[in-house]
Formats: sequence, structure tokens, C-alpha cells
Amino acid sequence: MPAATAVSLAGDVVTLSEDTVETFRASFGGPLVFPDDADYDEVRGVGHNIAGKAVCDGGLMIDLSLMNQVRVDGDARIAIVAPGASLGDLDGETQKFGLATALGINSTTGVAGLTLGGGFGWLSRKYGLTIDNLLEVDMVTADGELRHASESENGDLFWGIRGGGGNLGIVTSFKYQLHEVGPNVLSGLVIHPFGVAREALPFYRDFCATLPDELSVWAVMRHAPPLPFLPEDFHGQLMLAFATVYAGDPEEGERLLAPLREWGDPVADVIQLNPYAGFQQAFDPLLEPGARNYWKSHNFTELSDGLIDTLIGYVENLPSPESEIFLAQMGGATNRVPADATAYPHRDAEYIMNVHTRWTDAGQDAECVAWARDFFGATEPFATGGVYVNFVSEDEGRTEAAYGDNYARLAELKQKYDPDNLFRTNQNVAPAGG
Ligand SMILES: Cc1cc2nc3c(=O)[nH]c(=O)nc-3n(C[C@H](O)[C@H](O)[C@H](O)COP(=O)(O)OP(=O)(O)OC[C@H]3O[C@@H](n4cnc5c(N)ncnc54)[C@H](O)[C@@H]3O)c2cc1C
Repeated sequence: MPAATAVSLAGDVVTLSEDTVETFRASFGGPLVFPDDADYDEVRGVGHNIAGKAVCDGGLMIDLSLMNQVRVDGDARIAIVAPGASLGDLDGETQKFGLATALGINSTTGVAGLTLGGGFGWLSRKYGLTIDNLLEVDMVTADGELRHASESENGDLFWGIRGGGGNLGIVTSFKYQLHEVGPNVLSGLVIHPFGVAREALPFYRDFCATLPDELSVWAVMRHAPPLPFLPEDFHGQLMLAFATVYAGDPEEGERLLAPLREWGDPVADVIQLNPYAGFQQAFDPLLEPGARNYWKSHNFTELSDGLIDTLIGYVENLPSPESEIFLAQMGGATNRVPADATAYPHRDAEYIMNVHTRWTDAGQDAECVAWARDFFGATEPFATGGVYVNFVSEDEGRTEAAYGDNYARLAELKQKYDPDNLFRTNQNVAPAGG
């Protein structure tokens, strides 16, 4: 039995005796893995945190990924979800009942981390953020107590975990409101050569301004992947894709999407009825395991001409074939919740831009990171200054920007429930007065 070293709350490295480790092992229901064990490097939660916060050295990492059960009550339209479930686990179960809740757009993302930061995707304009559909949680706080939190019980904790990340404790169960969705939804892509972006992006902006909550259209800019429906000579060319989901009657969706589909001369139009759970996996193949990533994000209340100009210039100089820029259309129900109703404060964002700088050759690290930082700086004058906490990368120092006017209340809660800052491997909110 190995002794283990750990970093104490005071920051010192301490050695845990073999007895301490053995006592812990005897009281613990799952496997314990130590740094010298062969499978140490494989251990993780659902592991999508873009700042790498899923893992830590010199600390205790709790891997919840085996706890991935999802239980759906179709009559009550609720789902009870264990914290290791992925979006694919949850959508897969809820869709058996023709139901879904608002989640993100990659099926491999973890429900827990996504929810605790806020959570948005194709259904959010209609049904709000993931946290707007969260009814209650069970969680373990830093004092070891198991607590139930909802609007009517431990309401302060419930306010804080809806956006506050992992700062206030470990959530062991989530309960969500579900809605009728699918099983087929009108969804897909319209793809243009990037050369038309100077006309297409203003058209996109004006089109988005007319849309009801059921319809979401995102803009994706990157080099064209070798998708089977794209002509071979277009593979690798710069493209502008409009990605869409209509969460309602497909006939009405067809009518509403007609202007988008009729605009210009697209290289491909693959908008059709797709299984909702299938479309939730549509972007998964872009995520290559082992790729190097450096992401940046801004919130915008509008797509101004100046922003569009700047965007075009940087897309024309993308540093790698895998890099991409996503403009997610927000608004709708996400912005009809008061900014102080939950810890997530960005109820004014009409668009969230996510810059996925991704490459494979370590020799390109400096170039790719520099490109992302330059792009981020150039678009900053058009942004709100706020940022979605789940899109903050490690070195940014933007935690206060992530919580805006809600930061002080979150810091008070941190002081109440985790005064020693036990949960600190996250976008950390320091306990108030600490
Ligand atoms: C490819 C990709 C696509 C994405 N798409 C979207 C999207 O469409 N919409 C969106 O809103 N976000 C999206 N995100 C961001 C995503 O929400 C965050 O990366 C989130 O942290 C992922 O959660 P996880 O559970 O997979 O992460 P993990 O890395 O497993 O966990 C992240 C952190 O969350 C906290 N945490 C996790 N579980 C618990 C728990 N049970 N209790 C307390 N704290 C916990 C911990 O601090 C942990 O370090 C995407 C990220 C990636 C990488």
C-alpha cells in the first residue's frame, strides 16, 4: 500500500501515511488510483473542461464517470441524472419518450460540468439555458453534508450552483424539466464558400433578428472537412456554414428557413428531418482525441459591421486546418431570465463566439496561441466584456468577468459553504473576506 503526498489547504505538500490511505480505501466504494499506478493518466471525469480543470496533480480527483445513470419519468416529464452522464446518455434516454431538455451541442460533453456553468445549445432559445430547466440537485458540501437544493430548499445554494461551477460542492444528482422534442427535428447545414462572407454575415445577422424562439441558426467558419456531401475539390477550402435546428413543427420550420436556404449559391444544403439525438452528435467527429487546443470566447449583443470585418480578416488567416470559429445564436428564452436570478449573469448575450484554435503539431503551439490571442484582442472592442464560465481557458483571469455583478453574492456563498476553499480546482471564486 503506497503512502501518498497531497497539497494541503495551506498549500504545503503533506504525506498521508499508509494507515490513512488504507482507512480511506476501506471506507470507499470504488477503486483508488495513485500517481504510480499504470492507469493514473487515464483517470478523469467526463473531462471536457476547456481549462483542463477535470484533472489535478497533488490533489484528490473524484472520477464520477461510472455514475452515469439517467432515469426518466415520461408522465411527469422529468429526468433524474447521475453526475457522470454525458449529454449523449441523457438525450438517448429522454428521446425514448420523445422528450429532451436544453443541453450543449456535442454528445460527449458531461452533463454535470455543462449544467454547473449554465449550459446552452440548440434548444436554448426555446427552453432557456440548462440551468433554467434544472429543478433540484443533491450535493455534498465541503463540510461533508449531503444537501438537497431547489427553489424551496437551500435556495441560496440552488442560486449559486446555477452557474457557479464546482465552487460550492459536488453534485451527486440533477433533476431536469423535460419538453416534447422530436424524435425528428428539421436540422442541418447550409454551406457557402467563405468568399461570400462579406454579404452572407450581414444577411445572417438580419435573418437572425426575425426568428422565433424555436429556430436557432449558428455560423461556423473553418476549412471544409471531407464531408461526404461536399464536392471533393471543396475539401480544405474556407467555408461559412449555417447550422440550424428548428424545435417545432417541421412544416413551419421549412417556411421559416426558406430565406436562408434560398440565399446565394450554397455548395451544399443538407437541412432535413434528422433524429434529434443524432443531430446532437453531428459535430462530434470534429473533436479529434489528442489534438492541441487553445480556446477563446466573447459575448456580443450584436454583430456590428466592424466585428464582421475583423472576423473575416482572421478567418482568412486561420492558423491550422482544424481551427474554427462558432457564432452561437443566443437570445430568446435565455435572455428572459433576470441577470440576478441565477449565478450565471449573461442574460444580454445575443451571440456567443467560441474560437476553437485546434492543431496537432506541437511545433505550431506558439503560432496558434498567438493567433487566438490577437483575434481575441481585435474583437474585444465589440464584446460585452462578460464571458461564459465554461468557455474560460486556464490563463485568462476572467472569473470576475464570468460572474459580473453576481460575483460578490457568489463569494459570500463560498464563504458560507466552503470557507477554506476546498473546491478550488475550478474557475475559482475566493471566499468573501478571505
Ligand atoms: C468539445 C466541447 C464542446 C462544448 N460544447 C458546449 C456547448 O454546446 N454548450 C455549453 O454550454 N458548453 C459547451 N462546452 C463547455 C462545457 O460545458 C464545459 O467544458 C464543461 O466544463 C464540461 O463539463 P464536463 O462535465 O464534461 O467536464 P469535467 O472536465 O468533467 O468537469 C469540469 C469541471 O466541472 C466541475 N464539475 C464537474 N462535475 C461536477 C459535479 N458533479 N459537482 C461539482 N462540480 C463538478 C469541476 O470543477 C470540474 O473540474 C463544450 C466543451 C467542449 C470541450
